[in-house]
Amino acid sequence: MREDFARPRLVFSACLNFEPVRYNGRVVEDEFCKRLAEHVDVIKVCPEVSIGLAVPRPPIRIVFDRTKRVVQDGTGEDLTERLNKFSVDFLESLNEVDGFVLKRKSPSCALSDATAYRLSRNRKLLVKTSGIFAQTAMEKFPGAAFVDEFRLRNFWLRDHFLCRIFATAELRETLKSNCTKMDILNLHERYKYLLMSHSPSLLKKLGRLVSNLSVLSLLELIHDYADLFVKAVSVKPTKAKHFNVLQHIYGYFKDRVNEGEKRKLLRLLNDYATGSVNLTRLRKIFREYARQFHIDYLLRQRYLNPYPSELSNNE
Ligand code: SF4
Repeated sequence: MREDFARPRLVFSACLNFEPVRYNGRVVEDEFCKRLAEHVDVIKVCPEVSIGLAVPRPPIRIVFDRTKRVVQDGTGEDLTERLNKFSVDFLESLNEVDGFVLKRKSPSCALSDATAYRLSRNRKLLVKTSGIFAQTAMEKFPGAAFVDEFRLRNFWLRDHFLCRIFATAELRETLKSNCTKMDILNLHERYKYLLMSHSPSLLKKLGRLVSNLSVLSLLELIHDYADLFVKAVSVKPTKAKHFNVLQHIYGYFKDRVNEGEKRKLLRLLNDYATGSVNLTRLRKIFREYARQFHIDYLLRQRYLNPYPSELSNNE
């Protein structure tokens, strides 16, 4: 079973465990983000401190005054241009990034739930929107995975985020210098079931790319394969797609186990479909069967081992 993982490059809001840079001088303690940071290359950033705001400081707010702007409470200073400029410069200085873990509800970092106010009407709530930095990041890195600390508490969102960042990190590592067509073929084989759980149709297209390696030059193959792979893992898996993959994997065991074990495995699949057994547990059980029967092809599959086990909370 592959236990070596490429290290994703993740941008974190600096106030998530790293530095007490929030407007109130505090840091946000988040146990899962702390664990995650041990398995990735961290790029931490606090856009507000980076433009020279103090800690602590009066909070800033998003206001709509024809355009979306950011204004500091008390001073009334308009920080929009400074925040925009910093965001563009900082993001352009980054090379490859697999994902962003950002602080929810922040006028700078929120993905979609910062509160925006109407400037001229005594701060009446207008809409929920993304923070200035987050919005620029989503525009500049459309292939990256985005999450906040709250969404990471949901098993399905967390599982998708983790599968995605570890997959794109491994893709990046594979495509680095001296990559051969065989390296891409091997990667494709390892990711077959994981890709199937995201997008069976894109898996088919990827399969066509690697089924005739002589058609494309290496550079063309790298370009087309990477583009489709990143698109495929960005598609959200569904319970039905997972069920389909799990049935495929069960197919490797069904003729190797006795009748009692067969009934047990079918019951587990059924329990997964009805929601009484979780995906983490099924992956673990299927890994054990793959080990027991020495099914190397399955043991190499990232689907059964998509990210470090320390990050595999139960649902
Ligand atoms: S949410 Fe963003 S801008 Fe606000 S303190 Fe955290 S890192 Fe800084």
